Amino acid sequence: MNILVINCGSSSLKFQLIDSGSEQCVAKGLCERIGIDGSQIVYTPAGGEKEIHVTPMPDHTEAIRLVLEALTNDRTGVVKSLKEIGAVGHRVVHGGEKFARSVVIDDEVLEAIEACNDLAPLHNPANLIGINACRKLMPGTPMVAVFDTAFHQTMPREAYMYGLPVEYYEKYRIRRYGFHGTSHSYVSKRAAEVLGVPCESLKTIVCHLGNGASVSAVKNGKCVDTSMGLTPLEGLIMGTRSGDIDPAILEFLAHKENRSIDEIMGILNKKSGVLGLSNNLSSDFRDLEDGYHRGDAYAVCAMKTFAYRVAKYIGAYTAAMNGVDLICFTAGVGENSPLVRTMVCEYLGYLGIALDQEANEKRGQDILISTPDSRTRVMVIPTNEELAIARETVGLV
Ligand code: AMP
Repeated sequence: MNILVINCGSSSLKFQLIDSGSEQCVAKGLCERIGIDGSQIVYTPAGGEKEIHVTPMPDHTEAIRLVLEALTNDRTGVVKSLKEIGAVGHRVVHGGEKFARSVVIDDEVLEAIEACNDLAPLHNPANLIGINACRKLMPGTPMVAVFDTAFHQTMPREAYMYGLPVEYYEKYRIRRYGFHGTSHSYVSKRAAEVLGVPCESLKTIVCHLGNGASVSAVKNGKCVDTSMGLTPLEGLIMGTRSGDIDPAILEFLAHKENRSIDEIMGILNKKSGVLGLSNNLSSDFRDLEDGYHRGDAYAVCAMKTFAYRVAKYIGAYTAAMNGVDLICFTAGVGENSPLVRTMVCEYLGYLGIALDQEANEKRGQDILISTPDSRTRVMVIPTNEELAIARETVGLV
């Protein structure tokens, strides 16, 4: 069965068509600048050439119509008609406490997702627009919602509660939710599969280090803690997000710089992280690594501070699980930066970790990068959120 996986943002839409039998991607692409001048669709059929069409996309319905057209037309198509698309899997960022697993979408589910909009005002409304556009163009095709938060719903209360008056949890459901759940789930399961051991027998720490970054503690296959919180701002230092800071900094900065809370939030989300620490050199680790090797003091500081924070979370989650068997690195930085992995693992001598430097230099494969005598194993597992969404979708339809 072909599964169309949709990841819809406010002005962009990523898609992949996956054959669930072979688990191979049949075609993929991206619509950009939806509702803005200069919108374009980038489309790549498997084994074919990438095509870019600049064409007006006033809304997401038009974007999805163009995606379906590209997938089915005589020239670039990979299926003869929409009948060959068995189901659609939608990435939904926030499922609140309502959704601990993926669900088949109906009117009631749509309402429940809408009720979570408050918790993810930048993401959930866009996800809903994508779902509604698909339902309009593909009536009768089953749709599944796969939530970024769902995998983390197994966290115990002591891991998800904040030290705030409990009435704010009871009234507004302010608590830790965590994100990147599809990736943490996929990587922890895939690592166990590669090692040939049941994931129920492992204490695993997954470091999803991309532009957004989070760590999770997965004990016996279930998430017991994760670094992102009510929103994706908490936890690690990220590309442009601050991660954990003293909350009193908000008030201090607002007074000193004469700024509103919204402006300070903008700084914490868009101008902080390694971008801010590197004195605006870059949020991209390729540029930061160049700066690090040149000896640029800001780039060195950004990379060291980033790695130190990751190592601190690994220490915390080792305590949360009373030990750790396996540490996995994934996402853009985690998969591609041997330097970052080395810098993090340098803090982990107490776990008996020894890296196999030759394996650590390899890219693009599931690989054990610790030596055979390393007491705790370390792996790189390239994440595949689209495949994970396609699997969830097949499982439900
Ligand atoms: P993601 O959010 O998972 O797509 O990760 C994107 C980030 O991965 C980029 O902003 C870079 O910081 C990082 N990245 C991608 N390729 C490399 C590379 N070859 N070396 C270091 N970092 C990389």
